[in-house]
Amino acid sequence: MAGIGGSLARYAQRVAVDVTMDKIVSLSRRRGFVFPSSEIYGGLGSTYDYGHYGVLLKNNIRSLWFEAMVQERDDIVALDSAIILNPKVWEASGHVSGFTDPLIDCRTCKLRFRADQLEQSHCGRKPSKHPGEWKECDLTEARQFNLMFQTQVGALEDESSTAYLRPETAQGIFINFKNVLQLARRKPPFGIAQIGKSFRNEITPGNFLFRVREFEQMEMEYFVPPAEAERWYRYWIDERFNWYVKYGVRESQLRKREHSAEERSHYSSGTTDIEYLYPIGWSELEGVANRGDFDLKQHTEHSGTKLEFVGDDGERYTPYVIEPAVSIERIFVAMLVDAYDEEVVADRDRTVLRLHPAIAPVKAAILPLIPRNGDMVEKARGLYDELRKRHIVEYDDGGQIGRRYRRQDEIGTPFAFTIDDHTLDDDTVTVRDRDSLAQERLPIGAVRAWLEEALERPWRTPKA
Ligand code: ATP
Repeated sequence: MAGIGGSLARYAQRVAVDVTMDKIVSLSRRRGFVFPSSEIYGGLGSTYDYGHYGVLLKNNIRSLWFEAMVQERDDIVALDSAIILNPKVWEASGHVSGFTDPLIDCRTCKLRFRADQLEQSHCGRKPSKHPGEWKECDLTEARQFNLMFQTQVGALEDESSTAYLRPETAQGIFINFKNVLQLARRKPPFGIAQIGKSFRNEITPGNFLFRVREFEQMEMEYFVPPAEAERWYRYWIDERFNWYVKYGVRESQLRKREHSAEERSHYSSGTTDIEYLYPIGWSELEGVANRGDFDLKQHTEHSGTKLEFVGDDGERYTPYVIEPAVSIERIFVAMLVDAYDEEVVADRDRTVLRLHPAIAPVKAAILPLIPRNGDMVEKARGLYDELRKRHIVEYDDGGQIGRRYRRQDEIGTPFAFTIDDHTLDDDTVTVRDRDSLAQERLPIGAVRAWLEEALERPWRTPKA
């Protein structure tokens, strides 16, 4: 049965939206997704804290990645390795000597640039040009700057106690290869997946969460017989690309970009970035690399422990590794940008996050139409208590109903159940759809099943 929303929907006018990073930052702040970290002390450049909805959104991204990579597969197991590893790990992996970016300082404007990104950088003078383009620019020679954060383990600050915060989660997986191979009784092809914080002392952090110094990586190392590496490399590029499409990211905003031989890391024999069209332009969302046998061979050599596969028939080889690697932060920004929309409904502006229901922080709002009406409140709270056992849902009785809808629109809540006069007569509620604004009535007893079914339905964004 169509309700009043049917008529409202007819008045919705899409407006062409220029989704800037500023709009995303401001919405994130306004609705409590993300706050600048240490704000009361003036902040600390490019570090952020996550508020309630940010935590919920991150939880969803993390668990849907884990679902696709581990839960729904027979060939991948999970791992959670330490953040501070034996420093020899980072010598073997090449990070101590080679995990560097070339750094250039300007003696005039005191800014610091990445030598390989001068074209994308802006000089401190006005009007801003690329560094080196003003005659006053006084640039230093490029010097290599190691991105790993150092720390001391134990009380003695001598060289033997220097350790690093991990700059990637992958090495924790390689050094556990033997443990997993033996205990999980696996043979290639099989994978090990890990989610956890990584740290990089980036020279030029910025663009909100896109490049931060502390981020949560989701990496999976897939070990394969060398002859199958190319096939699995292509397979994982497609799998990961399709994961974004499945969770509502518009295909028109995604592309695969294969690295040229010069661009590839020393360990890689093939790398493809899955790029998203961020407000800063096409940029790496996720990387898929064919790392060959580089890592297992390096750790075999440096540790003296053979990291290889030995079959029952005596077959023996060092597997090749295919690695899809991404951070929750880059997915977080891509999903917010992709979801952000503005329209005019009945002469009023509406900002809405058209997030896939599985990604949305809150799945449904339960709203008594008239908060002063004790019967409505009681019914609404009863429904809320039923739904919250299974889902993240929100009860809201603060302010006008229109305002409450807008609040839910801005955090991307896909459905709102409103308890009104009719509910008191016939035990039906109105369900409002975030995207179409259509409304229908449902028996209150059927809401839970309806919601569960709705959350499982395939979803496509109405955004162009
Ligand atoms: P970039 O070239 O953008 O610095 P990268 O190629 O060094 O990235 P990888 O080492 O391949 O990145 O890291 C794997 C993934 O981790 C990236 O695809 C990205 O999703 C994420 N990532 C890397 N650095 C950062 C960062 N500073 N902030 C947020 N996410 C990051």
